[in-house]
Amino acid sequence: MREVFGFTRFQGEQEAAIRAAMAGKDCLVLMPTGGGKSLCYQIPALAGEGTAVVVSPLIALMQDQVAALQALGIGAEYLNSTLDHTEQRSVIARLSAGELKLLYLAPERLLQHETLELLRRHRVSLIAIDEAHCVSQWGHDFRSDYLALNQLGKFFPNVPRMALTATATALTRTEIVERLELRNPRIFLSGFDRPNIRYLVQAKTDARRQLISFMANHRNEAGIVYCLSRKKTESTADWLQAQGFTALPYHAGLSADTRAAHQRRFLMEDAIVIVATIAFGMGIDKPDVRFVAHLDLPKSIESYYQETGRAGRDGLAADAWMVYGLQDVVRLRQMLEESAAAEAHKRNERHKLDALLGWCEVTTCRRRSLLEYFGDELIADCGNCDICMTPPVTWDGREAAQKLLSAIYRTGQRFGAAHVIDVLLGKSTDKSRQHRHDALSVFGIGKDLQPNTWRSVMRQLIVQGYLRADPERFGAMVLTGTSRALLRGEVDIRLRQDPAVAAVRKKPTAATGAINSLAEADRDLWEALRACRQTLAAELKVPPYVIFHDATLMQMLLERPCDEAALLSVSGVGQAKLARYGEAFLAIMRQYA
Ligand code: ADP
Ligand code: ZN
Repeated sequence: MREVFGFTRFQGEQEAAIRAAMAGKDCLVLMPTGGGKSLCYQIPALAGEGTAVVVSPLIALMQDQVAALQALGIGAEYLNSTLDHTEQRSVIARLSAGELKLLYLAPERLLQHETLELLRRHRVSLIAIDEAHCVSQWGHDFRSDYLALNQLGKFFPNVPRMALTATATALTRTEIVERLELRNPRIFLSGFDRPNIRYLVQAKTDARRQLISFMANHRNEAGIVYCLSRKKTESTADWLQAQGFTALPYHAGLSADTRAAHQRRFLMEDAIVIVATIAFGMGIDKPDVRFVAHLDLPKSIESYYQETGRAGRDGLAADAWMVYGLQDVVRLRQMLEESAAAEAHKRNERHKLDALLGWCEVTTCRRRSLLEYFGDELIADCGNCDICMTPPVTWDGREAAQKLLSAIYRTGQRFGAAHVIDVLLGKSTDKSRQHRHDALSVFGIGKDLQPNTWRSVMRQLIVQGYLRADPERFGAMVLTGTSRALLRGEVDIRLRQDPAVAAVRKKPTAATGAINSLAEADRDLWEALRACRQTLAAELKVPPYVIFHDATLMQMLLERPCDEAALLSVSGVGQAKLARYGEAFLAIMRQYA
């Protein structure tokens, strides 16, 4: 760990998992994204005799991992369809010559007869199965090839296997153990918390303006903006581009070449913003994504956790930011009801969406309730979410709720949100005149509140189950079984006051904070270090973070190592990187000494 990776200490369960694997035990390692799973099999691979086989579901992931290992001076290769015959032969030759400590393979490749025979002739030290949740038929990443991995135990009876994943509910956990037929595995379970991610959720008022005000804290940083539709990813990317960001769209409708080019720029350059549908993400291992923004709601808390989890893998501060509004709530519910799926499936989806919406509206620490959803407990409030930083104000919503429900009732439960709000505000429109709503007693009874407040009330009533949008009536607002009690004033209801947009900002995150608060001279040094990294990366055709992570550069900046010994004590600088890149960075350090 010290020599090769240049790390000073193990994180979480790393050491225990490494010891178990080295003692020949099967293991299941559950760690959140960025928790450091790779090290759990890479160190046993380096320390053991022979070659460790790593099963990985995606070509992009394999390439990233292998590039990073090679930069550390480790014998690592992958075998997959992107290699031509000559290249494949050369990998096999290196394997035969005993030069490989790690060999990455896709499951279908590994299970081919010739591959198995090839490996049987060699010494396999360990089999690591990355993204092991791909074996679960219930998850969204199901890969049928993973199911056949259970055969590995028979082919390599004496080789320990290690399954690794970041997404594992208790159910998936059992499924992984059973389907992979792990033998009496040791289970290493780390919590789900990602303490360096700051969670921020805002009520949508003017999404673009809100986004830009959020992104002002993230100029010159890499991030992902998620949208629901392809069209919106493109228009948002164009618009961000006009605002001076380098923003690129990514969705399944773009040509494979364009997608590959955009993904490549995201990895290879320092400050690209990708505006994507959920088609983007799986297999993106970029450690220095500083923010993930959602302009549309994800489908569930699980999806939210997974998508936001792509931020801050390197452990430095990152933001997960989302806006959502009444429209989203109505639209998602409607899409769900209109889908052709079986009723049981819909019920499940409805339940998941409700959980997500409920989470959006929480009035207590967001991280705490996020973790509770996964069965984790947080000892103290996090202090690093919007709620902890700006506790929401609640108000007695009884009268407002009564007015709103009455307006819906009096207008016949046939109209959508916008018209109901017009009636409350007493707006004279064609529709209200046509339907004689301007003659109703509820017309104009809501003039005391702002339109935004009415949207907020409506949204919260939907989330709390007092109202729903009826898909059979084009999303008309209708009362539910519980509305009556509220209408009669028999129950209390407290509503959250949506904070004004400006109020939620703006303690800068630790990362930007650290950089923004640098003295002028330090900032020059920081830029010089980054430029040096970028030059080396371009020469080697690898992403900058393969050379050194931001955290490593930051430590150099703070400690100003001026000789090899000092540089070696920086986390992330091992022997191989010292030999390859040390001089280049020391030269800069001397220049700024
Ligand atoms: P995961 O696969 O769990 O998402 P990775 O294995 O990619 O996580 O590790 C996340 C980051 O943490 C990597 O950039 C890695 O270099 C770093 N890391 C892992 N273990 C340590 C450690 N013991 N000390 C410092 N950094 C570490
Ligand atoms: Zn909190």
